[in-house]
Amino acid sequence: AAKETYSFQTEVGRLLDIVAGSLYSNREIFLRELVSNASDACDRLRYLAITSPSLVEGDQQFRIEISLDAKAKTITIRDNGVGMNHDDLLETLGTIARSGTAAYLETLDKGDKKNGKRDLSLIGQFGVGFYSAFMVSDRVDVVTRKAGEAEAWLWSSDGKGEFSIEPAERDERGTTVTLHIK
Ligand code: ADP
Repeated sequence: AAKETYSFQTEVGRLLDIVAGSLYSNREIFLRELVSNASDACDRLRYLAITSPSLVEGDQQFRIEISLDAKAKTITIRDNGVGMNHDDLLETLGTIARSGTAAYLETLDKGDKKNGKRDLSLIGQFGVGFYSAFMVSDRVDVVTRKAGEAEAWLWSSDGKGEFSIEPAERDERGTTVTLHIK
């Protein structure tokens, strides 16, 4: 399998333009959104494991790790939750606009600006919190492997209209999100 490139769904592209381009307060909320996704992924696997215990065989300790590399200017959020496969990535991180996308764009269009800065802090309530990563990043890499599956995948984007998906290496289930800070 080779690298595939896709265009973001139109509304997602518009959302990313706003998130990446404007001045805003509360930029630090990206961390809350990504840790919350990692925690949800652990919860989902914990639930699935009630009926399919083999999914967590050999690793029952759920973890979320945050690390910084000042030299490389990266922030990494790693979890050993449920992970995503190729089709999950395609659907959840790009080609399909989740229902909150349009609603969130509307609140941004109407919203007051504080000292000329947009407040993007409600992004998570619209179910599109992942995209807040692009407030602080000029590239986001997601390496992920779904529990119970053998293949791992790299999703990567600079938030400018396109993203790519390609095979990757990962020795355990779960997801690592690496932010290349602007
Ligand atoms: P929400 O979490 O509100 O659904 P997000 O934009 O934050 O919205 O995330 C979109 C989707 O991407 C999630 O619903 C989930 O399916 C998937 N996702 C994001 N981060 C992770 C992760 N760390 N592990 C597994 N799936 C994830």
